[in-house]
Amino acid sequence: MKIDVLTLFPQVFSSTFEESIIKRAREKSLTEIRISNIRDFTTDKHKQVDDYPYGGGPGMVMKADVVGAAIKHHRTVDSWVIYMSPQGKVLGQKRVEELANKKHLIILCGHYEGIDERAADEFDEEISIGDYILTGGEIPAMVLVDAVVRLMPGVLGDEKSLEEESFSASLLEYPHYTRPALYADSEVPPVLLSGHHENIRKWRKKQSLLRTLLKRPDLLLKHNFNDEEKQLLCEILFDRENIASEEIQGIHSAPSLSDV
Ligand code: SAM
Repeated sequence: MKIDVLTLFPQVFSSTFEESIIKRAREKSLTEIRISNIRDFTTDKHKQVDDYPYGGGPGMVMKADVVGAAIKHHRTVDSWVIYMSPQGKVLGQKRVEELANKKHLIILCGHYEGIDERAADEFDEEISIGDYILTGGEIPAMVLVDAVVRLMPGVLGDEKSLEEESFSASLLEYPHYTRPALYADSEVPPVLLSGHHENIRKWRKKQSLLRTLLKRPDLLLKHNFNDEEKQLLCEILFDRENIASEEIQGIHSAPSLSDV
């Protein structure tokens, strides 16, 4: 997959895209990421990318002609153009998985008050990373690129980790432990030291369901339960020792058995 990021601040991407998993993906040629400066697509001698808003009001607006020229320069028949915008649909893992199958992403970072509305015809989609306002689209673009690139085949050392990660099957992942076996009077759950793979798998599945119930009960309503998961959830719901009473009281929207 090719990714083109269009921004007024190319330098902010260097550390993120030159470290860790994204660096490895680029080195292995699993993805090609190019950062382009939108300012390079100005045609006036002052290289002006923004201007005052018609109708008055605070802030500046990115010019449609400059943004449009930047997108047109990069667009091919395989391109999918995304404008990072707080007004877009909030990004979730399912959409990340779909975008990971695209051949070419063009990701546009806004700034100031945003972009002249007349450039909107050039976007295929607007994506938000949450209901809050950031200064520019650079951090949202990094979030999107990171989430997409780590799904590409060959990028992660062990792709099995993708299957169990939070949200991959609308459940949160089970808890992890590493050495030492005893920390601050707290022991590693004995089953993880047992070497019994089937018991460990089952314990992790149950923990995954329990965590989702405690932290994100809304996800359980979307989850497609198999028979084993239904059985384990029944065990959790009937075994009050698993859930501290104050936590139970905190779960106002926990699904009832009839919901699942
Ligand atoms: N005036 C705009 C509004 O109220 O909708 C907000 C503009 S914001 C200060 C500048 C740029 O940051 C946006 O054009 C967008 O590219 C980016 N941005 C800010 N918050 C974002 C979010 N939650 N998700 C994605 N992009 C965001």
